Amino acid sequence: MISQTRKRSGPLYGALEAGGTKWVCAVGTGPDDIRATARFATTAPGATIAQAIAFFRPHQDALTAMGIGSFGPLDPDPGSPTFGWITDTPKPGWAQTDLAGAMRRALGVPVAFDTDVNAAALGEYQWGAAQRLDSLIYITVGTGLGGGAMVHGRLIHGLLHPEMGHIRVPHDWTADPFPGTCPFHGDCLEGLASGPALEARWGQRGETLPADHPAWELEAQYLAHGLVSMICMLSPQRLILGGGVMLQTHLFPRIRRLVHHVLNGYIRAPALIDGIDTYIVPPALGERAGVLGAMALARVLSPNTTKTQ
Ligand code: ZN
Repeated sequence: MISQTRKRSGPLYGALEAGGTKWVCAVGTGPDDIRATARFATTAPGATIAQAIAFFRPHQDALTAMGIGSFGPLDPDPGSPTFGWITDTPKPGWAQTDLAGAMRRALGVPVAFDTDVNAAALGEYQWGAAQRLDSLIYITVGTGLGGGAMVHGRLIHGLLHPEMGHIRVPHDWTADPFPGTCPFHGDCLEGLASGPALEARWGQRGETLPADHPAWELEAQYLAHGLVSMICMLSPQRLILGGGVMLQTHLFPRIRRLVHHVLNGYIRAPALIDGIDTYIVPPALGERAGVLGAMALARVLSPNTTKTQ
């Protein structure tokens, strides 16, 4: 049966933001047309995937495509035998999970699959803070720290997908003896500046630290150094910073000032001189950046595909 909603307004898209701590599901066509949503905690793979399938099941016949933006590492290559899998994640129980395949088999729709940050980058390009641009980076600073990038209107994959959270930044061991939380590198950017790193260094969760606590200047320093590396490597036209840590909005002016300071006038782009307030910005889609990004993935997929059985 074709639902009434589809007859009225064309194709509907399924969107799944598969985060390490929570999943957000939605059905709709865009930010102004969300027909249904659900949000639940990430538990074991079988139970969490079943919960998502149960949400989408009533809309199954109306869906043209589904997009999934997931935590990783993952396999985003449609030509790979493990396309759609969460691969070598340290998250207990989730390594080698065929997420996209499970959704495709259960719902009979084509599935687009990418990192949560690539999805959010696409969503901000489609509907948010990067409209009318074609090169941008979306960074999340939360439980993890990662970045997705679009260059000339295409999301970057390459060898696997970018892992911008695991670059090195200057670490003054005298000023900050904290060794970092990354299980692979210790004091990479994620190890020094993610939400868990903040909590481990200061003994309390970031959101409980006052705005004048020295934690924030240190946090802004690490993030600024990370962003400068990204600016030098990819020359993005905008940097969008989301995730739970960036809800501390006082970080934005600190980060902008420090990026300006670290670059030291070398890159003579107006956006970095007088326009930095609109160059380093929060996501215009706010906390919906992830799930709307997943919907944007589905939109990109749908014109070239037909519904499978
Ligand atoms: Zn690392």
